[in-house]
Parts: sequence; structure tokens; C-alpha cells
Amino acid sequence: MEDTEKYPRQGLIMVVCAPSGTGKSTLISRLREEISNFGFSISYTTRAPRGQERDGREYHFVSRDKFIAMRSRGEFAEWAEVHGNFYGTAIKPIHDMLGEGKDILFDIDVQGALQLRKAFPNGVFVYLLPPSKVELERRLRGRGTDSEETIVKRMDNALGELKQAHEFDYWIVNDDLGVAFEQLKAVYYAGCTKPGLRPEMVADMINTWRDDV
Ligand code: ADP
Ligand code: 5GP
Repeated sequence: MEDTEKYPRQGLIMVVCAPSGTGKSTLISRLREEISNFGFSISYTTRAPRGQERDGREYHFVSRDKFIAMRSRGEFAEWAEVHGNFYGTAIKPIHDMLGEGKDILFDIDVQGALQLRKAFPNGVFVYLLPPSKVELERRLRGRGTDSEETIVKRMDNALGELKQAHEFDYWIVNDDLGVAFEQLKAVYYAGCTKPGLRPEMVADMINTWRDDV
């Protein structure tokens, strides 16, 4: 749904963060299904592949030494240590995709989100909130993927994570899934209209104003 083909825009960076169990994966996969313009950013990580994960598909799996070398060469737009492993986003593919007008949806932790915010001020940064503590715990249990110990740890972490929500541009409460999804889409479409994605557009219009009939 582009407003004009005459002035193609650069891609939009959209970052969504949330305490685990809020419904981030559910909402992100719905958004990807509905909006075809999202490219994939494949992160680098030092953690080992799990299950069916393949190098170059879910992640680029690299050694700690290689990660540290890449980091010291400034090849990451952001990086963070999460649960004892390093994760990072390489800058070059991001710039390539944005230049081609591809949008990029990021599922990264808050530390990484805040670094991206500095590097890409035209991005949109969304924080998803659970409707309540009780409901967050119900969802974590209902998902059936985590042990009791992990659920307790995730609930402990959630409070600290909520305290970082004020760093974000938008807060969406994922109470009714349909409402949250509409709000997420609205944020995406609003982000696509940012002047920074078409920096020359108005100047160009002004220059050609008298010639246009
Ligand atoms: P996250 O990626 O944030 O950890 P998930 O997307 O895995 O969370 O969602 C956690 C659980 O909550 C899943 O079982 C999911 O189906 C459920 N869920 C997500 N959104 C809602 C919602 N709005 N209402 C009720 N359940 C939800
Ligand atoms: P997992 O190991 O379960 O795939 O991911 C663990 C955490 O790392 C998740 O919270 C995920 O959002 C975060 N993560 C994945 N890739 C990146 C990345 O490139 N940068 C940052 N900062 N976090 C990431």
C-alpha cells in the first residue's frame, strides 16, 4: 500500500520488544503474513544451533572469536549479550535492504533495540505490554514450552523489562489480539510516511512545481 510510485521510499526499520510470553512472536508472524515488504535480518550468534536450526537460516552461527573480531571491525549495527551468548546484527545487509526499499522487522532484545534507535532514527520502536501480571503468567504456562524454573525466571525478568518501556515510541497492550494487531499495523503504516524515508521528495516537488501541469 504505497501512496506514490513516483517517489519510492527507503525501507523502514521496525523493532518490537516485549517481556517473554506477551505475544510478540504471534503478532510478528501475523504482520509478516499480511505485509509482504519485510526482508529478513539474520543475526549472528555465538550460541549453538538448536533442533532443526540451520546456519544462515535462523542465525549465522559463529565462534566467540569470530564474533569479537567482527565487533571490533565495527561490522555490527547493534549487539548484545543475552543469557551468556552474543547476538548481533550486521550493518551491511541492513543498509542494502533499506536502500532497496525493503522494510525490516526486528525481534531483538531491548539493549539491541536502543542501539538501533541511535543508528536508525527513522525507525519505529514498539513496546508490547501484557494486560496484567496474572495474564502474562497464564500465557507463559499456556504456551507449554517452558519449564517451571524458566517460567519463574521469565516472570522475574518481566518487571525489569517493563521498566525499559519508556524508551520506546509506541506502547501496545496485547489484551485482545485483534486490537493489538490493528494497532501494530497502524504503527507500521505511519512509520512508512516518515519524511526521512523520502528525504528528497518535497524539495523535488518544489523544484518542479511550476513545470507540473
Ligand atoms: P512471546 O513471543 O512474546 O514470548 P508468544 O507469541 O509465544 O509470546 O505468545 C505466548 C502465548 O500467549 C502463546 O500461547 C500465544 O498463543 C498466547 N497469546 C498471544 N497473544 C495473545 C492474546 N492477545 N490473548 C491470549 N493469548 C495470547
Ligand atoms: P534465542 O537464543 O532464544 O534465539 O534468542 C534469545 C534472545 O536473543 C531473544 O530475546 C532475541 O530477541 C535476542 N536476539 C536474537 N537476535 C538478536 C540480535 O541480533 N541482537 C540482539 N540484541 N538480540 C537478539
